[in-house]
Amino acid sequence: MASSGVVGQMDMNARPLALSGHVGFDSLPDQLVNKSTSQGFCFNILCIGETGIGKSTLMDTLFNTNFENFESSHFEPKVRLRAQTYDLQESNVRLKLTVVNTVGFGDQMNKQQSYQHIVDYIDTQFESYLQEELKIKRSLHNYHDSRIHACLNFIAPSGHSLKSLDLVTMKKLDSKVNIIPVIAKADTISKSELHKFKIKIMSELVSNGVQIYQFPIDDETVANINTAMNGHLPFAVVGSTEEVNIGNKMLKARQYPWGVVQGENTEEECDRKIQEKLLPYFSFKPLFFVSLQQTYEAKRQEFVGELQRREEEMRQTFVQRVEEKESELKDGERELQGKFEQLKRLHAEEKSKLEEKRRSLEKEMSVFSKRRAASELLQAQAFNTSSNNKKDKERKK
Ligand code: GDP
Repeated sequence: MASSGVVGQMDMNARPLALSGHVGFDSLPDQLVNKSTSQGFCFNILCIGETGIGKSTLMDTLFNTNFENFESSHFEPKVRLRAQTYDLQESNVRLKLTVVNTVGFGDQMNKQQSYQHIVDYIDTQFESYLQEELKIKRSLHNYHDSRIHACLNFIAPSGHSLKSLDLVTMKKLDSKVNIIPVIAKADTISKSELHKFKIKIMSELVSNGVQIYQFPIDDETVANINTAMNGHLPFAVVGSTEEVNIGNKMLKARQYPWGVVQGENTEEECDRKIQEKLLPYFSFKPLFFVSLQQTYEAKRQEFVGELQRREEEMRQTFVQRVEEKESELKDGERELQGKFEQLKRLHAEEKSKLEEKRRSLEKEMSVFSKRRAASELLQAQAFNTSSNNKKDKERKK
């Protein structure tokens, strides 16, 4: 009763607030959309491909803008990763886009370490995110997530096969990022060659165990379109920064002396629409989740590796100690054996000396007993002689 009284008092002081709209859980999706729109999206794309393959042009084409492009030379001593962040807006949707370019990729004589710089870059971004996540007071909402969401791997339109550098790089990265292979400058290859080239690339990727990004097909609403998209991999792309007047419309296309190549007209139309198809997937949580899982897995592997390394170190130390002790014991044993041998020798010498002494004493004893017997005989003879003389004297008397 008392509490209802308080409520009544509070009601009197309360400020009336009119509802600005409908309240109910059916408005949750709208709320989420509004929140995402106001916060904007973050999308980080990594472009791997040799200098001049058309990376910058494709980025300009995909995002329908002119990014700051620095022409790279072919004389870079090593692969360098250059990240540039842009704030883009389409209608009321904001996008924080980071384009990471692999400067000097494939330009060195020795390409052995080309992929390592890319791997290191990706790992560093994971590490910085993890460090932010591990903080007691995290500020992930305004943290600029620099982890790579998609990695476009530019394949030269040779029509032959993948270069070993492309294969090795994709193999090293496939557990860390979502790899989307693209055939660059697809306008320079004929339709039938392109078809065969795609089959060849896919078979090479499969036979080398390279995992590329597959559009999710578990959601019924997009299953059909995504199955078709997966069938188009690797995408054939054409980039252009030139605007050409086609049917009274200014469109991005490549104008040649013999005609105009417009992205949408090359190969299958979908290939050119990667922007529309890719962005929705890479901007949402599942991919972040995948990235987190990968970070966790990488950390776990690192930890297990460290544990194994320490175990191995301890084992080595133990084995070394045992070996040292064993050699110490063997040395001691050898020393004792030496001492024993020496004592044995001394003992044998002593024994032979005593034996000799015994023999000479026995000899002396036998000489002595012979002498004693001789003296006893002489004594007896003398006694006999004297007693005979005595008897003779008595008889004479
Ligand atoms: P990056 O070094 O990989 O960034 O290469 P760029 O984007 O600077 O492109 C190098 C050259 O290739 C430029 O002259 C572009 O006009 C040309 N290029 C780019 N994309 C295409 C394409 O799809 N087809 C053809 N034929 N040329 C292209």
